[in-house]
Order: sequence, then C-alpha cells, then structure tokens
Amino acid sequence: MELDKNCIFCRIAAGEIPSDKVYEDEQVVAFKDLNPQAPVHVLVVPKAHFATLAEMGEEGAELVKHAMQVIPQLAKRLGLAGGYRLIVNQGADAGQTVMHLHIHLLGGTPLGEKIV
Ligand code: AMP
Ligand code: ZN
Repeated sequence: MELDKNCIFCRIAAGEIPSDKVYEDEQVVAFKDLNPQAPVHVLVVPKAHFATLAEMGEEGAELVKHAMQVIPQLAKRLGLAGGYRLIVNQGADAGQTVMHLHIHLLGGTPLGEKIV
C-alpha cells in the first residue's frame, strides 16, 4: 500500500505535515485530534493508506491488529485507567471525513451520551 500524496493522514504518517504525536512505530502512528471531543482524543492511524475496513486487505488487517495491541499500552500511558472509548467511522453515514482508516481513542473523563 502506497502513500497517497493527497491524503492528510498519509502525509502526517510520513512526517510531511506536523502533528502532536503521542506514539509511533513502523506500522502505526498516533496523534492528538485537532478538534478534541474529550480531554484525551487521539487518532490511531495505520501508516498504509486504505479508506475503510472494506478496503483493508491482509496487509491492512495486520496493521489494524497491531493498532489494537498498541492501544491498551497507549491508553495506560495516557492515564486512561478509568477506561476509554474507541470509534471507527466508516463512510458517509458514519460521518467519516478523512478517508484513511483511523481509530478514535477517547477518554480522560466519564464519557456521557452514547449510542451503543
Ligand atoms: P472522522 O470524522 O472519523 O473521519 O474523523 C476525522 C478526524 O480527524 C476529526 O476528528 C478531525 O478533527 C481530525 N483531523 C483532521 N485533520 C487533522 C489533523 N491535521 N490533525 C489532527 N486531527 C485531524
Ligand atoms: Zn492515506
């Protein structure tokens, strides 16, 4: 999977656009959301470009698995001992605005209104 020059999260992953990174390894990067919806709001982003889970493929699946393994360690480091919420918007009806798969990691306060 190639870097997409037109994709903001590809460019963040490549270090071409600045971000407030809280974690990075060869497969994923995590950085603070520009428009935080909770005291802690981090986006965990596979470095390879694919828009949604439907386009993930085998390689992408490995990256998502890795992201899921990284998240508990990251949450601990971010002080989210009380818990946290993950959100992965998929497509227009979910309000996905950046078409590069990302996992929202939200916490730092008891999270209120929820639909699930
Ligand atoms: P979604 O609606 O699930 O596609 O979420 C996209 C998220 O990316 C939103 O919460 C935005 O605030 C966030 N976002 C967009 N551009 C940036 C950026 N350059 N750095 C950090 N977060 C961003
Ligand atoms: Zn991308």
